[in-house]
Amino acid sequence: MNFYKKISDTCKRYPQKIAILLDNKKSVTYTELDKLVARYSHALILSGVNVGERVVSQADKSIEALLLYLACLRTGVIFVPLNTSYRDDELRYFLEDARPKLFITSREPSGKIKSFCESINIQSETLGAVEPSRLQSLVQHASDESEIVVRNSSDTAVIIYTSGTTGRSKGAMVTHENLITNADALINLWRFSDADMLIHALPIFHVHGLFVANHCALTSGATIIWHERFDLDRIMNALPTATVLMGVPTFYTRMLGDQRLTPELVTKMRLFISGSAPLLEETHTLFEAKTGHRILERYGMSEAGMITSNPYKGERKAGTVGCPLPGVKVRITDDDGNLTQDGAKGHVQITGPNVFSGYWNNLEKTKEEFTADGWFKTGDIGEWDGDGYLSIVGRSKDLIISGGFNVYPKEIELVIDAIDGIKESAVIGVPHPDFGEAVTAAVTLESGSDLGVAQIMAVTQSQLAPYKVPKTIHFLDDLPRNAMGKVQKAELRKMFSDDWVR
Ligand code: AMP
Repeated sequence: MNFYKKISDTCKRYPQKIAILLDNKKSVTYTELDKLVARYSHALILSGVNVGERVVSQADKSIEALLLYLACLRTGVIFVPLNTSYRDDELRYFLEDARPKLFITSREPSGKIKSFCESINIQSETLGAVEPSRLQSLVQHASDESEIVVRNSSDTAVIIYTSGTTGRSKGAMVTHENLITNADALINLWRFSDADMLIHALPIFHVHGLFVANHCALTSGATIIWHERFDLDRIMNALPTATVLMGVPTFYTRMLGDQRLTPELVTKMRLFISGSAPLLEETHTLFEAKTGHRILERYGMSEAGMITSNPYKGERKAGTVGCPLPGVKVRITDDDGNLTQDGAKGHVQITGPNVFSGYWNNLEKTKEEFTADGWFKTGDIGEWDGDGYLSIVGRSKDLIISGGFNVYPKEIELVIDAIDGIKESAVIGVPHPDFGEAVTAAVTLESGSDLGVAQIMAVTQSQLAPYKVPKTIHFLDDLPRNAMGKVQKAELRKMFSDDWVR
């Protein structure tokens, strides 16, 4: 089945309901949404895109960009969203790899990219620019009754390029079945309904904002309160009428710093969800103290949509990402492939209808990332507690091997983060002539804190085995983060790679 059919069915069930409430107070009803998507879909066909071909979008977050995505689904065209901060050299790689029919941006691309597109037969188009583009003129004249193209469940709906902390990023092929089953599981688990008003302030080039937020709302008849970017004032203004917020941890830390956040402001809210990066236990605790709400943390990735979630009813455990979604299986293995005991760290592997079909143009990488018995290796290191809750302790690529010992950065970060005056920390391994890798910490301080290296060292030495104690501590104003709030450890490794080896 084509996943868009689920959205179209919702449009028919709630014809007069507001599907999307826009920044400028304008709104789009479900009937209007379906008709607009049909128009965009017809315009795609008129511009010569065929079923199974790709459309790469690097458009800014806007209603037009959302319509383009939904229209690609409807037309059976593979949608390929790109992070809006990618530069020309990066873009060239994605365009060459995806070989789309259309490349869509908000502003005219550079001359270099334009001529590159011409050289490999890609039409470039703008969306939402001042001058209506060819595509938008087509939309004006297109029919609002185009068909929903029939798709097999295993057909690719979207290719999402992974963030790629090491090496080139890979295009994860996400199928219509992946989208259908994940949306169904999440709506049930998080109890989405037509009574919901969801604040959507996430980017839409990533699974969290593109899939989880849009799909939960648009397949349950809820209303999306559409914010084109995260703006604290606008969030505070929206909270009294909203029922659900989906955010990355930085949303919550920023909200906590605002005096306006009180239990009275959020009386209509029923659910705060966090994911894409680890939520500090401290944030969880402070948020509950300030609002009375326990944030629900979940875990997912480009290759598998959502994998685990804390429960809606039942205990939401801070520092864990909850339990596997219905239909999804999660196991943790040691380096030899044996299942680990509760409390022991190991490789997180998964199987289920949410798991992608493979990497675009990259059969070899696809084979490497699946076990012989068909489980996907997430690349995350995790552990079970005794109650079936999973904790993610880091990426296997971030594992430090110092003097032959495995060091899990999270364990050291937790010790450092608990020191008074520390705001946050990130622990990495950098090349060391003797130990192979040296444990290195980057820390940021609370304002007014005068903590020094000696005090941090004293605490880590008293609580950790000597091989885990950082050999160097760097003070930074901020940790480098990507748009989803993930700390960029590769960036830190680059910054401090000369600490020991010159
Ligand atoms: P992406 O493919 O960009 O969505 O990144 C997926 C990765 O983000 C996962 O493999 C995890 O390493 C990380 N991640 C996602 N959600 C969480 C979470 N709740 N806690 C810790 N890490 C997370």
